[in-house]
Amino acid sequence: MKKILILMLALSMFVFLRLPALADGPIQVKNTSYDVEIAKRITFHLNAASTADLTKIYLVVRFPGTVAAGSRLFPKFTPAPQVETDAIWNLDRDLVGVPGGYLPPGAQGTYSWHLEDAAGNVFDTPAAPFRVDDARFEWQTLENERFAVYWYKGGDAFGKKIFDRLNQTIDRIEQAIGAHIQSKIQVFIYADDLAFQSILSPGHSNAEFVGATPVHEFGVMLVKSPPEDLQFAIVAAPHELVHMVIDQELGAGLGQLTMPLWMNEGLASYYEYDPPKMEERYRTLLDDAIKNDTLLRLRNYANTRPSDYSEGLLMYGQGYSVVEFILKEYGQAKMTQIFAALKRGSADDAFMQVLGVNQDGLENLWRKQIGAPQRDYASQPTATVLARPTFALSSAETPGPRGSATPTKQSVAVANTPASAGATAIPPSSNTSNPGASTGLCGGVLGGLALAMFGAYGWRRRGKRGN
Ligand SMILES: [Zn+2]
Repeated sequence: MKKILILMLALSMFVFLRLPALADGPIQVKNTSYDVEIAKRITFHLNAASTADLTKIYLVVRFPGTVAAGSRLFPKFTPAPQVETDAIWNLDRDLVGVPGGYLPPGAQGTYSWHLEDAAGNVFDTPAAPFRVDDARFEWQTLENERFAVYWYKGGDAFGKKIFDRLNQTIDRIEQAIGAHIQSKIQVFIYADDLAFQSILSPGHSNAEFVGATPVHEFGVMLVKSPPEDLQFAIVAAPHELVHMVIDQELGAGLGQLTMPLWMNEGLASYYEYDPPKMEERYRTLLDDAIKNDTLLRLRNYANTRPSDYSEGLLMYGQGYSVVEFILKEYGQAKMTQIFAALKRGSADDAFMQVLGVNQDGLENLWRKQIGAPQRDYASQPTATVLARPTFALSSAETPGPRGSATPTKQSVAVANTPASAGATAIPPSSNTSNPGASTGLCGGVLGGLALAMFGAYGWRRRGKRGN
C-alpha cells in the first residue's frame, strides 16, 4: 500500500514536474504534460525516446466514473528514436469533425500515452489525471462534500448566497423526495456573456439566451449571472440542481423507466423558491387552461417535450401544480415512496403502487382538486407518447422553426434554464418569429428543445438596457 502511494506520488510529480525517464525498458518517456486553453483545446505534450525508432504513438483519454466516452488521439510525428510531439483535444464548440469534443470547466479525466518502437517494444504510461480549468478568471471557491461553487465577480457574499441556497435546496429535496447527491456537483457562475457562451456545449444553438444548464455527465452546472443578477442565480441554480439530483439517482431519459418529464420539471419549478411559489407566467396559462378546459394530458408529456412556448409554460405550471397536489394531499413520505418506486419501474407502476392510480388516474385526482372536469382516458389510445420523437440521453436538440426539433449528435445531454427566471411576461409574438433566438424553456433531463422563454429574457434585457 505504501509502495503504491509512493509510486502514485512519484507519477504525479513526474507528470507535473517533468521528472526525467519513466520505465526501465528501452522506451523511455522523458516527460508528459498538458495545457488547457478553455474553449479552444487541450494540448497533451510528450517527449519520449527508445533504442529503436518510435513507430506508433497515441494518447488514450478516459473519463472514469462518468458515462462520457473517451477517445484515442493520434499525434503527428516522424518515426525516430527520439520523439517530441503533441496530441490535441479540441474544445472549440464551433469546430466539428476534429478529434476531441465538448468538455465543461471542471471536467476531469485521465490520459495515458501508448508507445511502440520498431524493435517491438511497447510501453503505456500510467493513467495521469487532468482537469479542464478556465484560467481566464481568478475563481473564488466555496466547497463542502456536496457542492463546489466557483465564481469570480461579486465578492465573498455573492458566492456564499448561491452556495447557501444550493445547500438549503438539497436539504429540502432530500426531505421531500428522498433524493441525494451521489457525487459532488461543481457549479460555475459566469458574469460575462461571451465567456459563458464559449463554454456551453454546441447543442446550444441559441447560446446567447441560455441562463443556466447542467452537464449531467460531469456533474457540472453552468450559470450565467453577473452579481447584479443574483436573484436569477438563486432561482435557476436550485431548479437545475433538482434535475441533476434526479438524474444522478434515476439516470436521464432512459425510456419509460424514469421520472416523467412533467414531474421532473414540476419538481424543479417547485423548488425554485423557498417557500415554493409558482412563477406568474405558468400561473396565468394554468388558470386559463382550467377555465377553458384545455389542460394537457400529463401522460403525453412523460417523455416528450412540448412543441411550443405556451404549451411548455403550461406543462411547467401543471407539473408544479400536480407536484404540489401530491405533497399537500399525500405528504412527503408518499413522494419519497414514488421516487423510490421510479428506480424500479415505470411511472404508472410507481403511482399505482404508492397512490393506487396510474398516471391518468393521478391526473383525474388532481383535476378534481383544482375543479377541472374528469377525463375518461381509458377509451383513448396511449400511444400518443410515441407519436412525436422522444429525445434520449445523449441528444441535444437544435430548435427549429415553430419549435420543431432536429436532434443533433452530442456526447453530452443538454438542458437549459431560461436566462431570467424573473421574466414574467410572455414575449411579443415578433420575438417568436426568429427561430434561432426564440426557443427555450429549461431542457430538463431529456435534452433541450428550447422554447421562447430565452427570447423573453433577451427582449427584456435589451429593453432594460435600452431605456
Ligand atoms: Zn427544468
